[in-house]
Amino acid sequence: MTQSQRSQLSRIVIIGASLAGATAAIALRDQGYQGELTLIGEESQLPYERPPLSKALLLGERDEPDWVADEATYAEKGISLRLGTMATRIDRDRKVVVASRHEYPYDKLLITTGSSARRLDVHGSELDGLLTLRTLEESLALRERFTDGANVVIVGAGWIGCEAAAAARQRGANVTVVEPRSQPLLLVLGEQIGATFAALHRDHGVDLRLGTGVKGFAGQGTASAVLIKGGHSIPADTILIGVGAAPNIALADAAGLDLADGGITVDATLRSSDPDIYAAGDVAAHDHPKYRHRVRVEHWANAKDQGLHVAGNLLGAEAPYQLRPFFFSDQYDLGCEYRGFADPAKDRLVVRGDLASREFTAFWLRDGGVAAALNVNQWDDGDILQDLVDSGRPVSDKELVSS
Ligand SMILES: Cc1cc2nc3c(=O)[nH]c(=O)nc-3n(C[C@H](O)[C@H](O)[C@H](O)COP(=O)(O)OP(=O)(O)OC[C@H]3O[C@@H](n4cnc5c(N)ncnc54)[C@H](O)[C@@H]3O)c2cc1C
Repeated sequence: MTQSQRSQLSRIVIIGASLAGATAAIALRDQGYQGELTLIGEESQLPYERPPLSKALLLGERDEPDWVADEATYAEKGISLRLGTMATRIDRDRKVVVASRHEYPYDKLLITTGSSARRLDVHGSELDGLLTLRTLEESLALRERFTDGANVVIVGAGWIGCEAAAAARQRGANVTVVEPRSQPLLLVLGEQIGATFAALHRDHGVDLRLGTGVKGFAGQGTASAVLIKGGHSIPADTILIGVGAAPNIALADAAGLDLADGGITVDATLRSSDPDIYAAGDVAAHDHPKYRHRVRVEHWANAKDQGLHVAGNLLGAEAPYQLRPFFFSDQYDLGCEYRGFADPAKDRLVVRGDLASREFTAFWLRDGGVAAALNVNQWDDGDILQDLVDSGRPVSDKELVSS
């Protein structure tokens, strides 16, 4: 974009006021954008970060999430917040966003609508009381129910299910986790590392039912039991459905933008099939230059980094986004970080340290280099692991296990 094109850019609208959207808005101002800037968000709170919702907040250690910025910052930076406002249509011909009967004209539009918690479509799914964990309200409501002696059933042993199980146990609830796959976190970590997380939860008293699908829910108006395959029923005071997230693509779909991998198709610079519309965060299916294939990442760091990056491109930089995924989790006294992108069903696992003591680093190798690394309760080698993953340089098993 030339200087004169840049000075004609006078209206930027962002749909989705969470980590990616709010980070982009602030970065636009920090990078010198002086035109109108509107951030439209369905939720009524200021933009916040979600990781504490399944950790410190759910444990009752704090009452507020991490805010992306305080209210004064948005005012100082001239960011018009339209909170509690659902965008209902993008009119690409007229270049306007429609929300709450208002029209917001744009020169450039950024979509950061993120994801919503998935629901199950089984017998009894229409009953009340099938809770999900995505928003601040949901986290606060859930922790009220995670009380001493309460019977909590969690459907799904992904990251949210595992972290919620840990919080519920630490608050004294009886916890059953029902997971159709053979291990928790199987698709990300594979059989062997998944088994260490299974042992972690069992050691903390979770009744972990692996290889167990949910057939339905039973109850009078409100679900009070989870029906599992084989005809058994697990009574529950609280049922949490933790079966993953679905990207919020309805607006983009209705506007005719290209979609891929469940998200909005964006090129390496995060630009969609419409040159005036970009997407970032959970919703963006990104043509990652380092992987040479499309990647859609549902992680905190990706939303923050893409939000920051896309601001420059909205202002004309046209720079590819190249960072590798990064993720962290805390469960009981286990903390871990995952860097990179591996397929545990195909990539070869090498472990340094002791799985049983839960102090180890797992490496997944592809083509002789490290595709991904997971450090568990080991914190000194973050930069080394990042370098191994970023460079993909050839590495021997001996170097990995002895370094
Ligand atoms: C409980 C929980 C714990 C997590 N813990 C971790 C963790 O430990 N580590 C990690 O790396 N990641 C974690 N994540 C994932 C991380 O929080 C997400 O990747 C991140 O929030 C994505 O940010 P985003 O801005 O792309 O989208 P989102 O955070 O999903 O925000 C999208 C926003 O857009 C709004 N919106 C959607 N449609 C519209 C519309 N039409 N009009 C207006 N507004 C709209 C939504 O209401 C929402 O506020 C966690 C997620 C959850 C739910």
